[in-house]
Order: sequence, then structure tokens, then C-alpha cells
Amino acid sequence: MAIIERVNELTYPYATHPPRGTTVEVAEGVRWLTMPMGGSLNHINLYLIEDRDGWYVVDTGLGTEETESLWRDLFANELNGDPVKGVICTHMHPDHIGQAGMITKEFHCPFYMTRAEYYQARAFALGGNASSQYGADWQGVQFYRRYGMQDDYVQKLAAPTRGGVSGGWRQRRGNTAAPFPLGFHRLQDGDTMTIGDHDWQVVVGAGHSPEHACLHCKSLGVLISGDQILPVITSNVSVHPTEPEANPLHIWMESHDKFLDTPPETLVLPAHNLPFYGVRERLRQLISHHEDRLLAIEEHCVQPRLAAELLPVLFRRKLDARQTMMALGEAIAHCHLLMHRNRLQRTLCEDGRYRFLSIDPDLERRAHPEQHDAPDDQPILV
Ligand SMILES: [Zn+2]
Repeated sequence: MAIIERVNELTYPYATHPPRGTTVEVAEGVRWLTMPMGGSLNHINLYLIEDRDGWYVVDTGLGTEETESLWRDLFANELNGDPVKGVICTHMHPDHIGQAGMITKEFHCPFYMTRAEYYQARAFALGGNASSQYGADWQGVQFYRRYGMQDDYVQKLAAPTRGGVSGGWRQRRGNTAAPFPLGFHRLQDGDTMTIGDHDWQVVVGAGHSPEHACLHCKSLGVLISGDQILPVITSNVSVHPTEPEANPLHIWMESHDKFLDTPPETLVLPAHNLPFYGVRERLRQLISHHEDRLLAIEEHCVQPRLAAELLPVLFRRKLDARQTMMALGEAIAHCHLLMHRNRLQRTLCEDGRYRFLSIDPDLERRAHPEQHDAPDDQPILV
């Protein structure tokens, strides 16, 4: 995930986030609140949808004591004395699911999620998470070596979870052993949930996470977009050692097509940054941003390149070990999409490393090496 530095054509109806522990009504029966996050992300946006006799919670914040305590204040002060009737999580990342177990236990209410997100979250809740485990495994070592990371980096990744690159990072982010609901109600693309007087349609995206649910209410003109569509930063779209041949940028691009006919007057309620109008403009910006990165990679790969050598093409600043892991995942995602388009060829060389070479004879005509977006400043995982 990275900051896009182009001029933003979006409209932001709110200049600031609601103060911690308070909510703001952004549409009839829809309330916006934030919960704290570390690092430059700072916050996650969560939403409450009012039913006739209670509330639905959309996303829940990190599994930290601070977030739990803020929730308990909200239960006491912001719900008009009504209960939570259901918890909906857009996807399985820790800032979205961290309090799902606490809230569903407190109110004995159902938990709604798509199936792929639910079971991935369950797997991570059992034993840490993929990024802390795969470094130590032969598959993780092979993955990072093949994509060109130096041996000392791979050894650091393989260090025991608690002190390793990824383990320490996850702990700082609050991915603690917060309880996770042991049962769920499955959401599927096209499902409708009727809450209060309004129908909310489930629109499933992918690429950032396996089966990300967005909620679209046509009658209110509101789209709760989670991490699928963000206004300022871009969602992290990465290949991980758990599925080394994945093509997540392809499915991310494809799933954006599903949102292209969202009515232009729709208020988008994202999980990070501020609510905005301009969903179609934002989709166009995101797609052209990635197309620009893809072309820059093709231009760089006129000589055979390691994926690790592409990081300066995508990211300007010096990356620490954790950021390097995320940035590499993004670089590989771009390479895999280019392979799918028959524009890059991947060869496993004698040194055990993959090298990528541009093979499109039309590249010379398409290339514009001096006119790319500036490389992004900082990848941030959401
Ligand atoms: Zn996310």
C-alpha cells in the first residue's frame, strides 16, 4: 500500500475524522467511527448501521486492550441503549477482525464474513500468521531466494517468530491472541442484507485479500468499501510464499471492473483515509497507477532482472526489512500479471534465482521512460 502523489480529483465531505470514542452520522442510520492503529496509518474507519432494534457493526479494529476499551465506551454512550445485532467483517486483516470475538461474545450476535476470509482468519488465529511462519519454512526460504533477496535477509526472515522480522511487526500491530468467533454466517457476492429500511448488497472484491466483502446500499447511495477502494493510499496487493504462483493483481484489476458502474454520486466509506465522492475517478486513478508501474517494470526488464531489483522502480525510499517483504510481494504481483499478459518471461537461472525479461516486441512503441509517476514513498500494509 502506498501514497499516490498525483492530484486527487475526489471530493471529501468531511475534513477530519470523528474524535475517538464518538460517532458521526454520514447517511441516514449509518455512523462512522475510528479506532487507533500504529504507524503512519494511524486509524481504521469502522461503521455502524442502525436496524429497528439494534446495530450492525462493520469491521472492528485491532485486538488490543485500547480498542476494546473504546468499544465498551461506545456500547455505553453511542448506541442509544440498543444492542449490537451482528458483526460484519469485510476481510481477514487484523485491524478489521481484532474485536469480532469480543463483540459477538458480548452480545451473543451473529458474525458475518465471506467463507475464504473466515477460514483464512481462523487459520491465522490458530498459529500466528503466514508471514511469521513461512519465513522459517523451506518454501519461504526458496521463495525469497528465487525472487532475489540476499541470503542475510532470508536468514533474518527465518529467525524464530518472536524476534524475527515479521513476528515482531505483527505483534506491534496488535495481532495478539484476541478471540475470534468460532462460527460464522457466510456472505456471498450478490447477497442482500436488509437492515432498517434499507437493502445492502454484498459486492465481493479480491486481490488485496481473498474474498473481500464491500456493502453497497443503493437507496442511501453509500458504498462501504473496506480496503478494496481507498481514496489516498493504495491497498497492498502481494504474492506470498503461501501461494507463490498467485496472480493477485490480475484478480484485483478484474474485481475493480465490478465497481466501475457504481453510481457516481455514491458516498464511499473506506477503511482508511476519509469518506469521499468520486468512486469512478478513483478506480480510474488506481488502474492507471498500476498500469504505469507495470510499464515501468517492462522498461526496466529489457535486461534480465531479479524481482528484488525492481523495488527502486516501485518505491523511492529506503525500506526496512518488513517494508521490503511487502514491497517485494507487490513487485512479484506486478511481474506475475505481466507474465500472464505475455509481456515478461521468467527464467529460473543456474544460481537458483528467477530473472524477468521483457518479451513484447511492441514495448519500444509503448515505452515512455521519462514520464512515469514518481515511485511511491512508503508501502503500508492494510
Ligand atoms: Zn486489509
